[in-house]
Amino acid sequence: MLRRSSDTTGPRHVRRPPREVRHAGGMAVKPNKKSSASSVNLRKVAPEGSDSWASSEAVRRSMLGNRGRDTRPELAMRSALHKSGLRFRKNYRPLRGSRGVVDVAFTRRKVAVQLDGCFWHGCPEHGSRPATNRAYWDEKLQRNAERDTRLQRELEDEGWTVLRFWEHEPPLEIVPKVHEALALRSSFRSSA
Ligand SMILES: [Zn+2]
Repeated sequence: MLRRSSDTTGPRHVRRPPREVRHAGGMAVKPNKKSSASSVNLRKVAPEGSDSWASSEAVRRSMLGNRGRDTRPELAMRSALHKSGLRFRKNYRPLRGSRGVVDVAFTRRKVAVQLDGCFWHGCPEHGSRPATNRAYWDEKLQRNAERDTRLQRELEDEGWTVLRFWEHEPPLEIVPKVHEALALRSSFRSSA
C-alpha cells in the first residue's frame, strides 16, 4: 500500500495554510447539513459583513458534502498532472450505486487519487479543530473520515489502487508518485 508522503517525510512546510483553514478557528455558525449549495444563500447564515468562515470556502464545501470540488489545490494538482502528460477523469464516481467521488481517476488502470483537505481530514499541520461547537465538529469530521475510509475500502475491493495526498502537498511532488503508481499498475496488468 502506498502511503501518504507526509507520513514518511514529516513536516517541511512553513507556508501559511490555505485561507479556509486559517479561518477555521473563527467558526461560529453551524451549516445546515441538509442544505444543498444550490438552495442556500450563504449570506443568510453569514454574520453581517463577515468575510470569515460562514461565507468561506470551507462552509460551502461542508454544504457540498465535505470533499471539495475544484478547489485551488485540486486545480493545481490536476493542472500539474495534465502537464506531465496524464489524462484522467475528474470528480469521478467509480462505484455503481455509490455516491463516492474520486478526485482524479485513471479508469483503465484503476488508480484513484484523492486530495484530502487539511481541515476536513485533520492534517497534522493544519487540521486544528475550531474551539467553538467542538462536539459538532468532532462528530462531523469523524463521520467524514469514516466515509472516506469506507470509500477507499470499497474501491480497493473493486481492484483500485487509492493514493491519498494532503492538499498542502506541492503538486510537483504528487505528480511523480502518481506516475509511479500507474507504472506499477501497467506492469501488473501486462504480466497478469
Ligand atoms: Zn495540511
